[in-house]
Amino acid sequence: MNQVTSTGGTPIRILIVGGGCAGMSAALRLQQTLRPRLRAGQAEITVVEPQPYLTYHPLLAEVAAGSIDPRHVVVPLRRVLPDCRVMTARVTRIEHATRRVWVDAAPRGERGVPTELPYDLLVVAPGSVSRTAPIPGLAEHGMGFGSVGEAVALRNHVLEQLDLASSTRDPALRQSALTFVFVGAGYAGVGALAELEDMARYAAKGYHNLTAEDLRWVLVEATGRILPEESPELAAHTLAELRDRSVDVRLSTTLDSAVDQVMVLSDGSRFAARTLVWTAGVRPAPLLRDTDLPLDVTGRVRCLPTLQVLGPDGDPLPGVWAAGDCAAVPDPAALTAATAYCAPNAQHALAQARLLAENLAAALDSRPQTPYRPERLDCSTSLGLRRGVAHTRSGGQLTGRRAWWLHRARHLRRLPSFDRRVRVLADWVLAGLFNREVVSLGAVEHPRSEFEAGFPPQ
Ligand SMILES: Cc1cc2nc3c(=O)[nH]c(=O)nc-3n(C[C@H](O)[C@H](O)[C@H](O)COP(=O)(O)OP(=O)(O)OC[C@H]3O[C@@H](n4cnc5c(N)ncnc54)[C@H](O)[C@@H]3O)c2cc1C
Repeated sequence: MNQVTSTGGTPIRILIVGGGCAGMSAALRLQQTLRPRLRAGQAEITVVEPQPYLTYHPLLAEVAAGSIDPRHVVVPLRRVLPDCRVMTARVTRIEHATRRVWVDAAPRGERGVPTELPYDLLVVAPGSVSRTAPIPGLAEHGMGFGSVGEAVALRNHVLEQLDLASSTRDPALRQSALTFVFVGAGYAGVGALAELEDMARYAAKGYHNLTAEDLRWVLVEATGRILPEESPELAAHTLAELRDRSVDVRLSTTLDSAVDQVMVLSDGSRFAARTLVWTAGVRPAPLLRDTDLPLDVTGRVRCLPTLQVLGPDGDPLPGVWAAGDCAAVPDPAALTAATAYCAPNAQHALAQARLLAENLAAALDSRPQTPYRPERLDCSTSLGLRRGVAHTRSGGQLTGRRAWWLHRARHLRRLPSFDRRVRVLADWVLAGLFNREVVSLGAVEHPRSEFEAGFPPQ
């Protein structure tokens, strides 16, 4: 057990790396549990996160569809963590042997001089990043779907393609503008495709020369099933629903090339598409490679069921816990070796964060650590307005409207801020009362272009 006490009036320094689902929720819980100590100056919590907010990813697809205001799926860290120190910066290295991290506060894309930050207790929660592949043309023409910026950009891009297809006289250009390819059929790919297809179907009604049937949606998945994070039954339901909506789902197929916006698939098909969305899974945050923490073969931090990081001798490494997508946490309910560790999803991240905070507080008081026992996951996916598929904890299956309501209720409950819950609820009510907004605001992504056009060419 880790007993940690403040000595000689020095506060215990708790450092949290990452302010996403796991990091922010752990900070929130620690802030409540340790409030007397924080206020008495006996402990301090520092959260290091490159963005000044948490992004609640499960609702990004609804941002892309325009059902939720982008600002409402992010939770400002400084507002919800008033008793913590929030640093808008990136951890570049962790040296747990000497209990130090290095932090770089330079804006994204710039490299600053990392400064050293010592700590006593460490929470590792930097999540995961998109798993890209060296496919010709992908870097030039692909888009990701893991941030608010990408969700808004994708919405604008899809609506721009409808404008383009309606206005051009070139049939080849029209065809490629109306072809939308998503690679990877996990949460991100399925959710984004289903919501955007639904939105574009509605938007097409506003064009004199377009119908929903002119639009072609292709979902490419390398494995033999979709939604690997969910139960096989829910995945099968979702697949049936997508095919019902004429989505061309290609299982056991890969993208081989996207050069010049011509998609070449491993099944031999070849077609032009101006939209390529890459959502083919995640890998642990690259930061983990620059640490002295033990990693498993997939690059996740090896953890005990108590979320303490596993030392080389099989005992916990003192003073360090990990949670969320970056952590290999044993799943006691696992049936096979392949699923022996918790899957990367928001349900595990939030539940692990709560336990992590309790275990860290327990270590401060020399109380025993509690192992993580995940509740049965409640699976659901929104597939557009008033469409969804869901499983209940008791094993029931729902589709259509009821599944969609259940899905929304679950995410509303999980969204880690009361303020944000109210705002998202208000967005949904307004979206239900009025027609959908389907205008592209792509120009906001290039705010200087009008101004620059005013200068004579050099
Ligand atoms: C589009 C999309 C849809 C999803 N839908 C669902 C869903 O429907 N249901 C579900 O259960 N799960 C879903 N997920 C998965 C879920 O969002 C993740 O499993 C969950 O967010 C993991 O929480 P986390 O805290 O580990 O990582 P994150 O929430 O990603 O947080 C990690 C944080 O660490 C920060 N960070 C990274 N590197 C550093 C560094 N070097 N220094 C400091 N900070 C760093 C990042 O900026 C980030 O804010 C979805 C994911 C995506 C992308």
